[in-house]
Amino acid sequence: MKDHDVVVIGGGSTGCSVLYHLAKMGVKQPLLVDMAPQLASGQTSRSTALVRTHYSSEILTRMALLSYRFFKDFGRQLPGHTAGYVETGLIVGADEASVPPLLENAAMHKRVGIDSRIMKPEEMASSQIEPMLNTAEFSLFAYEPNAGYAEPSTTAASFASAAVQLGASVLTGSRATKIERATSSGENGYSVHTTEGLVQCRNVVIATGVWSRPLFAQMGIDVPIKVSRHPVAIFGRPARYQGNRPVIFDFPRSAYYKPEGNELFFAGSLAPDLDASGEESDPDSYNEGISYEEAAGFSESAAAALPTMAEAGTYRRGYAGLYDNTPDQNPIVDELSENGYPGVYCVVGLSGHGFKLSPEFGRIVSSLIVQGKFPDYDVSVFKLRRFKDGRPLGGKYRVSTIA
Ligand SMILES: Cc1cc2nc3c(=O)[nH]c(=O)nc-3n(C[C@H](O)[C@H](O)[C@H](O)COP(=O)(O)OP(=O)(O)OC[C@H]3O[C@@H](n4cnc5c(N)ncnc54)[C@H](O)[C@@H]3O)c2cc1C
Repeated sequence: MKDHDVVVIGGGSTGCSVLYHLAKMGVKQPLLVDMAPQLASGQTSRSTALVRTHYSSEILTRMALLSYRFFKDFGRQLPGHTAGYVETGLIVGADEASVPPLLENAAMHKRVGIDSRIMKPEEMASSQIEPMLNTAEFSLFAYEPNAGYAEPSTTAASFASAAVQLGASVLTGSRATKIERATSSGENGYSVHTTEGLVQCRNVVIATGVWSRPLFAQMGIDVPIKVSRHPVAIFGRPARYQGNRPVIFDFPRSAYYKPEGNELFFAGSLAPDLDASGEESDPDSYNEGISYEEAAGFSESAAAALPTMAEAGTYRRGYAGLYDNTPDQNPIVDELSENGYPGVYCVVGLSGHGFKLSPEFGRIVSSLIVQGKFPDYDVSVFKLRRFKDGRPLGGKYRVSTIA
């Protein structure tokens, strides 16, 4: 294989966005390799792909807001391409313990420029935002109208296709097995060994999600990523609950609900124990289906929060995906120079909330590679060494992915 300036390993939403942003910034012929026969067939294809700005740390909130704006403007940013973004709004329903952080977060969101409205249960009940919602178990709500969901595989494919139009190359069916310092291509060059041959390059970007640990281990780096299984149940909505409806975070029942399209309804988990104490999963061999108990649990939660689902909702099917969790459930975005690999970058450990941030991941990494810095905000908080240094990026809620 011929030489490339930059090789991106992993063709999910992260790697494809990085590839696009590299090509847009003028990198000549960046190459993306993915071991699967098709792009976006990793966790991106299993994502519920919510695009929201409700976060509890300011830096993630800012990144989510910039990424949200990118999704809204996707067709103009990447002419002829789509992310399939649908705006629905998001209702964050807090239990008693989450009221203080909800209030703090909403105040921070306002400061950052997000339209976030605090509503008492009686205000939510009398509003027309979601007339089907049973507000009984909730203590307080934050409502953000500027949120929704995108089509995750389409988004990744759009990034890749726009990158190819700008001169990038994509090689699927090719697993990267080793990254090593290359003597032939200068001091900072690398050889990326793949099942399809060797590629020489100046920079490498690792965007391999739940499959990251072996690649890091081969470089002698112990990356703290725990792979955890997350089931999702899909229901049909009754006639009176169809059409475009807000996404709901249900903290009392540790669940989220995503009404999709006209009549589908996805239910997923916000339970912290799935990530903290749940069993470690093997990304190449795990239960990709959903158990009876899991489906029944989601049925019960959905029925309690939205009684119309109990009356006439129908169970359709389910599946399970994987999160690449870090100990603080926040991404690792870093150049691995401290580990002896200057010029090798990683965007991994996205902990179940990395899809929506993909536009910013692409902007950050391409800028670090091309300009040697990312001037817009301080991304050093995402460094790998924060775990060793005891400086994790904390979230404020007990529910997991709302980092
Ligand atoms: C059920 C579920 C729901 C989710 N909901 C949301 C949500 O609502 N909002 C949100 O923002 N995020 C959500 N996420 C998280 C989000 O989907 C992920 O963070 C994001 O899609 C990860 O993208 P990625 O490109 O990093 O990883 P992936 O999409 O997994 O891509 C990694 C790619 O790397 C390739 N690869 C791995 N190792 C190698 C190798 N050695 N050589 C070559 N190729 C390799 C794989 O084939 C794969 O294509 C959810 C995730 C799941 C599972």
